[in-house]
Amino acid sequence: MSNERIFNFSAGPSVLPLTVLEQAAAEMTNYRGSGMSVMEMSHRSKVYLDIFEETKSDLKRIMKIPDTHEILFTPGGATLQFSQVPLNLIGKTGKADYAVTGNFSELAMKEAKKYGEINISCTSGDKNHTYIPAQNDLKLTPGASYFHYCSNNTIYGTEWKYVPEVGEVPLVCDMSSNILSMPIDVSKFGLIYAGVQKNMAPAGAAVVIIDKNLVGNEHPLTPKLMSYKVMVDGDSMHNTPPCYTIYMLGLVLKWLDAQGGTEGMEKIKAAKAKILYDALDESKMFIGCAEKDARSDMNVTFKTADEELDNKFVKEATKAGFENLKGHRIVGGMRASIYNAMPTEGVQALAEFMRNFERNN
Ligand SMILES: *Cc1c(COP(=O)(O)O)cnc(C)c1O
Repeated sequence: MSNERIFNFSAGPSVLPLTVLEQAAAEMTNYRGSGMSVMEMSHRSKVYLDIFEETKSDLKRIMKIPDTHEILFTPGGATLQFSQVPLNLIGKTGKADYAVTGNFSELAMKEAKKYGEINISCTSGDKNHTYIPAQNDLKLTPGASYFHYCSNNTIYGTEWKYVPEVGEVPLVCDMSSNILSMPIDVSKFGLIYAGVQKNMAPAGAAVVIIDKNLVGNEHPLTPKLMSYKVMVDGDSMHNTPPCYTIYMLGLVLKWLDAQGGTEGMEKIKAAKAKILYDALDESKMFIGCAEKDARSDMNVTFKTADEELDNKFVKEATKAGFENLKGHRIVGGMRASIYNAMPTEGVQALAEFMRNFERNN
């Protein structure tokens, strides 16, 4: 089975660990003697609740989530959080700060404007989002209800190398594309959210980790299913949760344990990223898009000096079994997304392919 698989550099939905897919396949029609697929189970049944609880407690253990915080599984992906965050959190003072360092943080900021007074704390838009502003450049609004940023800019290939210091203001972070790639101190955050299709599971849901103190201040018109309070009170089961996605996340977390958890993953992902960035730095043809000190370990963006050569590279790479290397349409060039589940061999093979391409062109 494995030798039919290509190296998939998709930005999302993205590669999942092969062993996880194989286990899911083996359990597909009869989950551990239940006589049913996980897809077919009642979300209130004991067999499913065991999966749910174990996934939640594994995530809590792996991310060292303190008891002050609750884990939610929400529908609608990260994008729904662009609305859910302000609907639930901005009410206290009506004001919030947004760091704009890429496409998704800009979308989040624009959505939040519907609900209150939004201050753009910083933006890297002056240099096409190729860098991350420094702590000293953040403009903080006194009395803001929260500060929102996106820790990894999936499209531009930049990553925050520090957690912003924002005093007493709750820190809200979109971690969709680098969650579980390294240890983080969850206690610093009021709310973390992540669409699951990058480092966690198949698409269609988000994980939200919320400080319980922030729950219960939602706008009166908040749809019931978008109220963090309703979600916390119902343990993410106010309605039918994304059951199968949560099961898949559970399998991915077991796989992550076998890699040494987030500590192990941090070493592996840093080594993988280094292979590609070294290849870029040695090359006279390929140019890295992000400034060196802001380079993402998850999404490596690069190009040549010539758009036609970019197209040729993507075409030949696809033929050679390296899929989804075309950059996002708003930036062009190439992007190799090397999330947790991308094997090191895939990254090594791509670096080798790049060297050969350069020699032949
Ligand atoms: C992919 C992504 C999103 C959008 O996720 P959806 O699940 O499609 O809503 C938002 N933010 C970041 C950082 C992402 O990488």
